Amino acid sequence: MSNQSICEACRIRAVDVIETTDDPVQPYRLCASCHERLMAYALRPIEWYNLASMHGSFKPMLHDDFYEEDGTACQPELDVLVTKQDEAPTLKEVRHDVEALLSFAVSRWYIEDDVTDSLKRHDPSLLFDAVKTRYVATQNIDVKARLLEVVADVIATPAADWVRSLWHDVDNELVDSLAAATASSLPTEEGLQRVYDKLDEIEPKELPSAAFLSLYRFRSPDVLDWIESNCDAFDSNWARLVAVSMPTWHQMNAWLERGRPLSLVALEAMVNCLEGYDGLYVESQSPHILQTRHDEVELVLTAYEQSDSVHRVRRQVATILQHKDEIFM
Ligand SMILES: [Zn+2]
Repeated sequence: MSNQSICEACRIRAVDVIETTDDPVQPYRLCASCHERLMAYALRPIEWYNLASMHGSFKPMLHDDFYEEDGTACQPELDVLVTKQDEAPTLKEVRHDVEALLSFAVSRWYIEDDVTDSLKRHDPSLLFDAVKTRYVATQNIDVKARLLEVVADVIATPAADWVRSLWHDVDNELVDSLAAATASSLPTEEGLQRVYDKLDEIEPKELPSAAFLSLYRFRSPDVLDWIESNCDAFDSNWARLVAVSMPTWHQMNAWLERGRPLSLVALEAMVNCLEGYDGLYVESQSPHILQTRHDEVELVLTAYEQSDSVHRVRRQVATILQHKDEIFM
């Protein structure tokens, strides 16, 4: 039997059903019994794993409402009989084989450090070849995004020419992932310009979140100047992006003097430097306001509060002053 005619889930029996419910472009090709179990959310762990490692684990019938990350069905509508040979492989079992390890990476909800560390132990050029081959072979956006994540976290600079070539015809849904790969593989100035050009095509309403997702990995103060030219209204995504882009006291002070919306962005960016005030990503970077003139902080913030005395501003200034040792460096 050719690969195309073998069930993608059990990888033993012949294909009887092409199931298009989750994705008409990349349907599941299944034998009758795996199909019955898929529809009843009752795949065996290895069957779930084989599908997730080809299609990603975000497809509606594979995702985490129905399966644990080891492939255990959580709410099956049929009994699931699992013998030893039906278990999904563990990282320990796949980590020495580059293809098996990439399949494992594709099947995860998130790539965690242990997977990244295992990928880094492989010959970079063999890993890169395997990534490129898979990327070309699939139409699946989640899988392509995961492969770009491997480029961003593991391969980096050696992927520069390939990453550059992908910008010529990038699917909008992949811009964030390609931007992450760009941040780690291309020179910063060139990489940022490619992302800025793409962001120019985005609707104003979508711009703050699109900008955060595609610029946060650069951690570049150049992004602050770009925000200055593109921020027309306050949005918390601007503040999150500022917090991770190496903001200086000098620039934040200038934004406070310019007034809304940049002043509100600067205040929230200061608050975002505190643990627990923003998402996990921002927190993991332990951001600070840099090169602070510490003797100016209280004076400047109090003056701003008097000029824009709404409840939100008063609350934020109080929080910032209370925690200024943690925020300002
Ligand atoms: Zn099957």
